[in-house]
Amino acid sequence: MHMTTRRITRKIKVGSTFIGGESPVLIQTMAATKTHDFEATADSVNKLAESGAGLIRVAVDNSDDVNALAEIRKRTTANLSVDLQENFRLAERVAPYVDKIRYNPGHIHHLDPNTPWQKKVEYLVDVARKYDVALRVGVNCGSIDPTKLTLNRSGDAVSIPSNGDLTKTESIFDPLLASALEHVDFLDSIGFTRYCVSIKSSDPQTVVLVNRRFAELRPDIPLHLGVTEAGAPPMGILKSRLALEQLLAEGIGETMRVSLTVEADQKAEEIQAARLILTNVAAGNIIDPSTPLPKLDIISCPSCSRVQNGRFVELARQLVKATEFAKDYPFKIATMGCRVNGPGETDQADVGLWCGPDKVNLKDGSTPIGSFGYDEVIEKAVALLKNKIDQFNAQHKS
Ligand code: SF4
Repeated sequence: MHMTTRRITRKIKVGSTFIGGESPVLIQTMAATKTHDFEATADSVNKLAESGAGLIRVAVDNSDDVNALAEIRKRTTANLSVDLQENFRLAERVAPYVDKIRYNPGHIHHLDPNTPWQKKVEYLVDVARKYDVALRVGVNCGSIDPTKLTLNRSGDAVSIPSNGDLTKTESIFDPLLASALEHVDFLDSIGFTRYCVSIKSSDPQTVVLVNRRFAELRPDIPLHLGVTEAGAPPMGILKSRLALEQLLAEGIGETMRVSLTVEADQKAEEIQAARLILTNVAAGNIIDPSTPLPKLDIISCPSCSRVQNGRFVELARQLVKATEFAKDYPFKIATMGCRVNGPGETDQADVGLWCGPDKVNLKDGSTPIGSFGYDEVIEKAVALLKNKIDQFNAQHKS
């Protein structure tokens, strides 16, 4: 048994708490209630804070949500954060009510594509300074800055793998890193240091490698750790443990979120899983990094306020059961809760499902197959998977 020596990064203030420096690792989670239902969301935020979350994210997409955020702020003293998704201009409206704002270098290009990203980040920094909030630069493998997709770690051009599969460690590593480094260099150049960085992937090994490398290059910057779309427990917990326990045991990671596909009223499970990880690391009892994962990779989003049909979580769980037979086949299945990230983040999966209000959209790679009712889509997805397995077996017949 050994005790971890934590590294000492910059310390940033987030509401009533801190990330980095000598502060303990801050546990984060996200409310998954409908944000416009501000009573329910404030209630959820307060319960999550009581369960041990030091920072709680709330989804905000439109004016109704902004108005609700003001009401939520009146009802809680918990530290709140908001993710801007593609709408960076929302920053000024949400900043008065939150303590941290996350922006994604891969999303910031979309709105006002003719405005250089540096101008948009300068605007975010002005807002952050004016309203006394911290920022998170949140890089994600499902939404990488398109200008970074063809760089290797020396900054030289490389080609995207011919199968288009950007989820494999070797091909995803450099664009993720390049994107994060570009933004931190820029933030530092304009004298803003009140930020942390996250670099997330659904592949635990990628999370370890890319965060370890970033920590080598920029040991001063606090890191927010997480495996994105880790899925439902127990697999979501296992994937998160594989990545986060290794990094934390190396002293890397100042804040963390375990993303789990669970119902809105079960989000405290994310906090319990984070505590388990911290306890294991403190005890020197971390999971064996070579613990194998099934070849069939099933990812699903953690669900949030944007889920358009509450059946999403149950659907994700059913799909795990219905595809157990295929666990030894190297395919990827992605289930997403809404149209915000659904269409894009299923592109890299062999079988993709993203949920609408009444129907679930099924995809074969990046090709849409059709929309099906919640009761019939599992059967269709399993048939698609079986087809792929037949092809795979035919190709690999000795
Ligand atoms: S895919 Fe949609 S529902 Fe799922 S976490 Fe992302 S934004 Fe929320």
